[in-house]
Amino acid sequence: MNRRVLQVLPVGAVLLVTAAAPSRATGPLHGSGCAPSACELEPPTPEEVHAIVAEADRLVARYAMDTTSIGRQCLALGTTMRARIDEVRMLPVMWRAPDTEGSLAAVTGDAHRVEPVPGAGRVHIARGFDSLNPERGIPAIVETARHEFAHLNGMGRREMWGLDDGARLAAACAPPEEREAGR
Ligand SMILES: [Zn+2]
Repeated sequence: MNRRVLQVLPVGAVLLVTAAAPSRATGPLHGSGCAPSACELEPPTPEEVHAIVAEADRLVARYAMDTTSIGRQCLALGTTMRARIDEVRMLPVMWRAPDTEGSLAAVTGDAHRVEPVPGAGRVHIARGFDSLNPERGIPAIVETARHEFAHLNGMGRREMWGLDDGARLAAACAPPEEREAGR
């Protein structure tokens, strides 16, 4: 795996592309580009890869025989996470991006139909909240991975009670102990 820090396009260029392509044919599936202060993408650490793959394996094992609608979606989510772990890149901290109403909102991750630039990956996950709190922790990173891979699998950005379809599927497929904790 390439350990080199990847530099993404200057944010101005990313925003320009987003503004010029309202159809989002090549735009992000969730979030938009990366923020000026957070445009350094890094490969996930071995620990992060292990945690995401372990979650993918849990989903595949848990939902392999589940023929309900949600079961099939969780199985597909695990399958995609396993197959596309190479598309994950990490960012040091959360960034801000326009939400569906055009307001700037804090973002823990995003997902793209195509790589914003070659080698940049299609799923981007923040490791930390900000420079003073640089560790969100592995469970939060795994939660974000479920959420953003759900967008890769076609879940939309339509929001209800502040959660979009990707977030809701991520929560529905979460381990029971996390669902009970209201994560
Ligand atoms: Zn989302």
